[in-house]
Amino acid sequence: MVKKVWIYDNESPKSQETSRRLRKKLLASGTLRTEAHEASPGLIQTQLVQDGHFEFDEISPEIVISIGGDGTMLSAFHKYEEQADNIRFVGVHTGHLGFYTDFLANQLDELIEALRTENSKNAVRYPLLKVEVKFDDGNEKSYYALNESTVRRGDETLVAEVDISEFIFEKFRGDGLVVSTPTGSTAYNKSIGGAVMHPQVEAMQMAEIASINNRVFRTLGSPMIVAKKDTIRIRPEIGTKLWFTIDQKEYKLANLKEVIYSLDGRTISFANCAHTPFWSRVRNSFIGTD
Ligand code: NAP
Ligand code: MN
Repeated sequence: MVKKVWIYDNESPKSQETSRRLRKKLLASGTLRTEAHEASPGLIQTQLVQDGHFEFDEISPEIVISIGGDGTMLSAFHKYEEQADNIRFVGVHTGHLGFYTDFLANQLDELIEALRTENSKNAVRYPLLKVEVKFDDGNEKSYYALNESTVRRGDETLVAEVDISEFIFEKFRGDGLVVSTPTGSTAYNKSIGGAVMHPQVEAMQMAEIASINNRVFRTLGSPMIVAKKDTIRIRPEIGTKLWFTIDQKEYKLANLKEVIYSLDGRTISFANCAHTPFWSRVRNSFIGTD
């Protein structure tokens, strides 16, 4: 079976070079077999032909190989977001942290071997965060985040009501709030004191950025992990100019009424390529190997 693949790289020289090498190797990968054909009447000759294992398809790939860092994987996901239900992602990392990436630039042969044997049934699926935005004028938009979504202010403090499902939970005042997926828990969430979550835990996490706590504004003050059945609703004060982000994309908004976060069962799939166990990846990335 020929697999349709696409390489998504960033512009760094190392990624470009790795991408060129991988492209060549993928094209050269195939099974050789002999085929008999009739060279002239009565004369049967055999020749060696190659059945390729991979072909390139940018429009509807089954596998997207991201080459770069986590930022590259985030961009690859957003490029193919609409079709993500039919795609398996895999990452090669070229010098960055590479939390989402399984292979190093010197492991392309291992990568190709793994890609030959993986399939959609043994793919690894992790939750995506559904983000529904409602504007003052009644408009609505929805997004999916792979890492997290934030509502933030820098100049003045953000004042917002936070509801969990249908009840008012707290009145927040501070720099902002970050709601992350399990795989995003090692990114921004971690920098602001959020817990690292195993990606198989189906839950989202909300963490505070510099909350002010006093008699008027009182928040939980610690990150919280919210179950899949619940929603988190953030309602900023009317007319607040704020920054709203979905992964690495940032929007300056002045008319945001509320943002509703939930997990609706949609997932991102990673090709099952003998993944490094999650906790050893956490150790390698944040504690270091000795
Ligand atoms: P960036 O500024 O290059 O990313 C910041 C760092 O986060 C990079 O080292 C990146 O790794 C790493 N990273 C991204 N996703 C990760 C994950 N799931 N687990 C562990 N580390 C992760 O910008 P970017 O590469 O476009 O990534 C956007 C992300 O940056 C956002 O989604 C947000 O999570 C994060 N961010 C963090 C802070 C903070 O910690 N103070 C502030 C803003 C944004 P690579 O070097 O491999 O790309
Ligand atoms: Mn980056």
